[in-house]
Amino acid sequence: MSMLLEKIKSLAKQHQAENVLTRRHLHAHPELSYQEFETSKYIQAQLTAIGIPFSVIATTGVLGIIEGKNPSKRIIALRADMDALPIIEENKVDYISTQEGVMHACGHDVHTTILLGAAKILWTLRGEFEGTIKLLFQPGEEKNPGGASYMIRDGALKNPVPQGIIGLHVHPGLNQGKLSFRKGRVMASADELYVSIKGPGGHAATPHQTVDTVLVAAQLITSLQTIVSRNRDPQNPSVLSICSVHGGNTTNVIPSEVKLMGTFRAMDEVWRFKAHELMLQQAKGLSLATGAEIDFRVDVGYPTVDNEPNLTDAAWKLADTYMGASNVEETEKRMGAEDFGYYSQVIPGCFFRLGVRNEAQGIIHNVHTPHFNIDESAIETGVGMMAWLGVQLFA
Ligand SMILES: [Zn+2]
Ligand SMILES: [Zn+2]
Repeated sequence: MSMLLEKIKSLAKQHQAENVLTRRHLHAHPELSYQEFETSKYIQAQLTAIGIPFSVIATTGVLGIIEGKNPSKRIIALRADMDALPIIEENKVDYISTQEGVMHACGHDVHTTILLGAAKILWTLRGEFEGTIKLLFQPGEEKNPGGASYMIRDGALKNPVPQGIIGLHVHPGLNQGKLSFRKGRVMASADELYVSIKGPGGHAATPHQTVDTVLVAAQLITSLQTIVSRNRDPQNPSVLSICSVHGGNTTNVIPSEVKLMGTFRAMDEVWRFKAHELMLQQAKGLSLATGAEIDFRVDVGYPTVDNEPNLTDAAWKLADTYMGASNVEETEKRMGAEDFGYYSQVIPGCFFRLGVRNEAQGIIHNVHTPHFNIDESAIETGVGMMAWLGVQLFA
């Protein structure tokens, strides 16, 4: 076992310069969700060059297969996402985005690089471990319905069914050289709320002759907050935010429509759907009370990311061995969402965080911001860690 560990560490080090070039190429050529055509071709070319068989699924997704000795003995899936965000990059680096208004601001270029790097090591060592590694390069993590759902639809978790799936995410809050794990629910579900409040409209001086859609909107926004504050168990986090209000355009006309948009997040799948019902009930009640026509739509998004305890324990222990226990921490829960949640609903999943922060180098900016960047030495850590989990989990 320690022989393999040493080999993986030394290969990750040996390949680091080349992996950094891969990351910079991907960073300079970002593509938006579900449009990752060049990224997909690049991954396919890399896998072809290594010799790894693959298929293209979910339009731009790539599913690679590495068989070790005794391929059916254990099946492990490793996942990376490929898409970028509609953000104008403001970093001063020579590998800055060449695509106007598109930026790898969530580090998915890093995730893809790490999985390619791990794949190369796993392919080299395929005579030295048992089982099969499935490599999932997925599209569309940043946008509903989530590329993970298409990967699952197209059979990525079947024939053979993996015993577990591993994903990582860069974490600008954690120093480079560190990893963090957590068992159970680590990220929230995220559902989008779209509300239309309609009435006949009318003169502001005669509100009694119409329905005041603005007042109804205000009442609804306020009453929705009681769902989280009064119906939810305070021990279990949940967030409802109305983030957009549109209606009316002058001082003396009651508008015939007010539109609201917002997000609802939860850490519990049962509560999540109960809350949807409570929202609809409130809208219905307010409609009855005021005479406004209220169309309340919940666009169901990503499920919670639920780290299966046994798999997470095993991955955590392996991380302690690979990194040294002092470099592995427990991470906090976050109300952000990740479509990795879809995989963790089907098979045991473990989603962990990779430290990329380096204050001395000014690398402190959060994901989804124009200054987000990483300390690239984290790539070596990520590559080695994914390869190590690939050969050791359930072994
Ligand atoms: Zn993101
Ligand atoms: Zn992301």
